[in-house]
Amino acid sequence: MPRLSEVIAALDALWPPERAESWDAVGTVCGDPDTAVQRVLFAVDPVQEIADEAVKLGADLVVTHHPLYLRGTTTVAAGHFKGRVVHTLIKNDVALHVAHTNADTADPGVSDALALALDLRVTGPLVPDPGDPHGRRGLGRICELDVPETVREFAARAAKRLPATAQGIRFAGDPDAPVRTVAVSGGSGDGLFEQVRAAGVDAFLTADLRHHPVSEAREHARLPALVDAAHWATEWPWCEQAAAQLDRISDREGWNLRVHVSKTVTDPWTSHLSAPFSSPGAPN
Ligand SMILES: [Zn+2]
Repeated sequence: MPRLSEVIAALDALWPPERAESWDAVGTVCGDPDTAVQRVLFAVDPVQEIADEAVKLGADLVVTHHPLYLRGTTTVAAGHFKGRVVHTLIKNDVALHVAHTNADTADPGVSDALALALDLRVTGPLVPDPGDPHGRRGLGRICELDVPETVREFAARAAKRLPATAQGIRFAGDPDAPVRTVAVSGGSGDGLFEQVRAAGVDAFLTADLRHHPVSEAREHARLPALVDAAHWATEWPWCEQAAAQLDRISDREGWNLRVHVSKTVTDPWTSHLSAPFSSPGAPN
């Protein structure tokens, strides 16, 4: 069985920590480098439910996309919800490792997994990493559809192929407009509108789209359709991709790891009611 330090070294080769954004907090949160690792669990969020799942599963290592602590802390007391996660993990000999923006921009990265889940053909990054001579790394992906479809059909594709959440899929734009090329970006993507517009795609699928950025983008000329999915749903496909990558490494190294992907929905939204279409103040 490999030691934690060997597994972490393999993960760091997939998602080099030095490629994370300067504000990010990636790497190992807890764990003894000398402990043996046999079972690994991949998940999006390092929340209590995932820590409990890891303990139940008998995992030695949890790899999450989101950091547990993005900013510094002066306590890991179990009376705080994040401290409780740390306690649960350490008491049960479970390590926690984070690959966040270093996994976003990797090749393959979070948006490659999203594109694959949607059955889209990736043609390149939306925001290329200038340090990559092959032009494959970077934020977001530009993709082509084999057969053009309407905005409504593309949104339906996302609803069908991404894991189900309370939010589902919403979109802005002409439902009947044709879609041949799309940009996708796992996680919050409303900071990328300029690059999306410059890419000249027909639609942009991402998460966490807010009123003002969307309203202003809608007023702007040459606007692609905007398709908004739940943040967790756009990043969960990365867990499967990452688990498959670690599986291959385990086979190559003869590690015999047991690699799992959590199916627990940790998107914070739990319910969604579709309001009937009527003018404000109109009787229902
Ligand atoms: Zn995210």
